[in-house]
Amino acid sequence: MTTLVDFARDLRDRIDIVDVIGNYVQLTRAGSNWKGLCPFHREKTPSFMVSPTKNMFHCFGCHVGGDVIRFVELIEHVEWKEAVKLLAERCGIPMPKLSFRESVRSDVKKTLYEINDLSAKHFEANLCAALQQEGHPVREFIERRRLDSETIQKFRLGLALDEWGRLTEEIRRAGYDLTQAVGAGVLLKHPDSGRIYDRFRGRFVFPICDNVGRPIAFGARLYLPDAPDDQPKYINSPETELYHKGEHLYAFHLAKETIARKRYAILVEGYMDAIRLHQAGFTNTIASCGTALTSDQARHLRRLCDRVVFVYDGDDAGQKAMLRGSLVLLEHDFLISIVALPDDHDPDSFILAHGADKFREHLERASDFFEFFLERAKAMFGVDNVSAKTQVFRFLVPILRKVTNAIALETYLRRTAAELDTDVRALRRELAKASDKIEVRSTPPRQAAISTAPVIERYVLKLSVENEELRFVILEHIQPEWLTNELVRKWFEVCRDRTLDGLDVDWESLLSQCETEAGEQEAALLRSIALEESEPLEAVDELIIRNVAARLEQAYLRKEWGKIVETCAQLFPNEPQGEASPEVAKRIKTELSRYARVAREVRPDPLVWRNTGFC
Ligand SMILES: [Zn+2]
Repeated sequence: MTTLVDFARDLRDRIDIVDVIGNYVQLTRAGSNWKGLCPFHREKTPSFMVSPTKNMFHCFGCHVGGDVIRFVELIEHVEWKEAVKLLAERCGIPMPKLSFRESVRSDVKKTLYEINDLSAKHFEANLCAALQQEGHPVREFIERRRLDSETIQKFRLGLALDEWGRLTEEIRRAGYDLTQAVGAGVLLKHPDSGRIYDRFRGRFVFPICDNVGRPIAFGARLYLPDAPDDQPKYINSPETELYHKGEHLYAFHLAKETIARKRYAILVEGYMDAIRLHQAGFTNTIASCGTALTSDQARHLRRLCDRVVFVYDGDDAGQKAMLRGSLVLLEHDFLISIVALPDDHDPDSFILAHGADKFREHLERASDFFEFFLERAKAMFGVDNVSAKTQVFRFLVPILRKVTNAIALETYLRRTAAELDTDVRALRRELAKASDKIEVRSTPPRQAAISTAPVIERYVLKLSVENEELRFVILEHIQPEWLTNELVRKWFEVCRDRTLDGLDVDWESLLSQCETEAGEQEAALLRSIALEESEPLEAVDELIIRNVAARLEQAYLRKEWGKIVETCAQLFPNEPQGEASPEVAKRIKTELSRYARVAREVRPDPLVWRNTGFC
């Protein structure tokens, strides 16, 4: 029996990646690659490359990349397995029979989807019937909230009747095992009697959907004006096999296209806020619905846009949630704006009271999140004396520490200094102190490190991977320590070790080793080298390699020489340079003769250099 992984590998090799991606992105030929505008970040000049020969894509702007399955995962917002299925369907290739365990698992999930869908339909039908009835209290609820029928349909809004067994009965009639429906979260089982009954009763129901619009859970609120006080206003489905809190954002499936087009998302707190904004035409709205924004959600959103506008409640809880959410978004390099609605309005009540145009005005005047929190801190602590000012700054420190953009950070510090009437250098010192105390800043992103690697070093690595014949010449003539870039050096050494061990050396095996051992970020860097346009590799011969080697060694020795001179200066700070101890003098002499030998032996041919593009 084929495993899904084998099947996916086969499928990937049979599919033309340019064909698939070409359905989403307009591609034009660029050498052996194809290029176009990246669908995952906003850009005006194409930096999105697709290589049919290497069977991969990579964006030099936002560093996403991978194989064709990864592309479908990202663009369709689906899991890996779903992406394989979509691709197989599109190419008319039947999916393999799954192993017993896999098929049981996927059957269970399939049933859970069906039960959720059946429940959503049941609630929709209840609402539809209730709306036909004169004087039904839910009619008054809908009229008061001015929800139109298009919105009700789009969000699949529904009604759970105030009875114990209506949904249970329907699920039983449809032939499902009730225990599975308990597992889906729509029914409950009494712990003592074992009786199974409806979880949602006498409530207005909001289905929560996954990224492709399948209901996976429900939120339900009391809607009767005289509802008993002892019950919570909102209840939600529990976590299930399909629904994990902090993974889904409400209305994401309805908003994703507009978010990608407008490159920003409006983030609100509640179901009704999201629904209201969609109905008023702000279709790039999503809601966090009571859970704190998670890093997963932020990462997901980052593929669609780079800006988020918070429109949370003005109360203390809302502001705290916004601050926490901002810190998560900052880690993913979002631009963040904040709309503060007047008079303790939430977006729902604001639009009901003042209309969509007034809301748009507020949206257009959204303040930068930092200004917002600076004002808030000033309001909380004041700026009248030293201790108040210190408190304001302490409040801002966690925010400032997350700001990765140097220009933004400098701007914020200057703003703060002006407000606190203090010197910006003092704030910078305080911030550095606070950062030292709390953590050693997490390792800086490595992509910066490799993209600044000298062209010649990137080329050496590329050649060693792609040209087997020259690989041996390169390994013979070039020492890893001559490479100044840490990552290039590391993967050059991997090439050498794999060669010595008789393992395959090609981008696919290197990338899969990289993904398991070092992670996606480093893999992105390797892909960028793999897809880099360069001089034709065939034009390179042994002479060129020897020249490259000499050049690298010279640069290496020059740097070593610099180090020695520096050591001398340190050893004899008051002496003129060169008056070294015998030991140092000896070292200098050895290095110098080595340097001289290299310089004498190899005279790069200027013509050859020009041809390889290294001059
Ligand atoms: Zn991109």
